[in-house]
Amino acid sequence: MSVFIPYGRQSIDEDDIATVEAVLRSDWLTQGPAIERFERAVAEYCGVRHAVAVSNATAALHIACLALQLGPGDTLWTSPNTFVASANCALYCGAHVEFVDIDPLTFNLSVDCLAQKLVQAERDGTLPMVVVPVHFAGQSCDMEAIRQLSERYGFAVLEDASHAVGGWHHGQVVGGCQFSDAAVFSFHPVKIITSGEGGMVLTNRDDLYQALLRLRSHGITRDPALLQGSVDGDWNYQQLELGFNYRMTDIQAALGASQMTRLDAFVTRRRVLAERYRTALAGLPLRLQQAIPNTLSAWHLQVVRLDQPAWRKPVYDALRQAGILVNVHYQPVYLQPYYRALGFQSGLCPEAEAYYERVVTLPLYPELTDQEFDTVVDKFTTILSEIAS
Ligand SMILES: *Cc1c(COP(=O)(O)O)cnc(C)c1O
Repeated sequence: MSVFIPYGRQSIDEDDIATVEAVLRSDWLTQGPAIERFERAVAEYCGVRHAVAVSNATAALHIACLALQLGPGDTLWTSPNTFVASANCALYCGAHVEFVDIDPLTFNLSVDCLAQKLVQAERDGTLPMVVVPVHFAGQSCDMEAIRQLSERYGFAVLEDASHAVGGWHHGQVVGGCQFSDAAVFSFHPVKIITSGEGGMVLTNRDDLYQALLRLRSHGITRDPALLQGSVDGDWNYQQLELGFNYRMTDIQAALGASQMTRLDAFVTRRRVLAERYRTALAGLPLRLQQAIPNTLSAWHLQVVRLDQPAWRKPVYDALRQAGILVNVHYQPVYLQPYYRALGFQSGLCPEAEAYYERVVTLPLYPELTDQEFDTVVDKFTTILSEIAS
């Protein structure tokens, strides 16, 4: 047993290592056959037409917003209970960002709050162009309800599915984009599968796919159908818009493709551990994430919302002291100093703030052993009981 138990970590096996080594001995180190292999593996798994691998999920969110033509004067709405990247993508495009409060039981963006805010925004002429639902901790938002609102109010839906690789919703794998324009995955090492760093945009829309391919590589194309004016020769490529170098390397893609073969096993183990937490923590003064009907979480995070905010810091500190490296997900994005300087103030999303003051994230990852799990539950239960008494 390790001395420290982290809240999350990657699982790398000999197959992963051999696959990466094979790329290093090959002719292609970037944007070669491994990229296509990884993209195809993810697209087939999710049942989606197109997948575009990029350097990380932050880049994926950025070019997905650009492909949806989000720009200055437009507004993007997202959840405050997320990593900053879900909101920053709007600002990269010169657009505004606004936050929709969370549901106090699922900790996802609240569909009721979204509906209410849309009524008000329609009256004020301030409807969003893009809404980014975040599948917090791996559990999909109610996408069917969000899709209905998007049809009524005309906004695009971009799922931040960074936590939810391998999750299910309405009989479909998350990323299938049944109810959205596009979805984004992250392959950062703490997420469900990893490519070291990496991200992907998934979509069924051909127009978005073509735009995403250009945007990840400088806005450049070699497609004869797209070239403008006269062409000097076969060497000609053309930059049609201002894109970026957001390419993923073949080294990363090979690791990602190899990890895909174990995605089901990873999620199964996470689910087993989450079930055990539910049983082991029953009766304690805390709240676990409520399950959404027709949804299977990928269980990226095991969060517990303690009943009293006064308990959070002592619980966090005592567990860390005991070598259990708990974490906190998330401080509402708009309370970051950068966002406060833009004019956001506390009180904006009361449920997200009440949640933040009480939450701790317990260890959850496939290689967490039964013995380590028992240690975590034991220490957590003892510490919380002492502090709460
Ligand atoms: C991790 C994460 C991101 C960013 O992913 P990177 O691949 O690190 O850029 C975006 N959104 C959410 C919700 C995340 O958890």
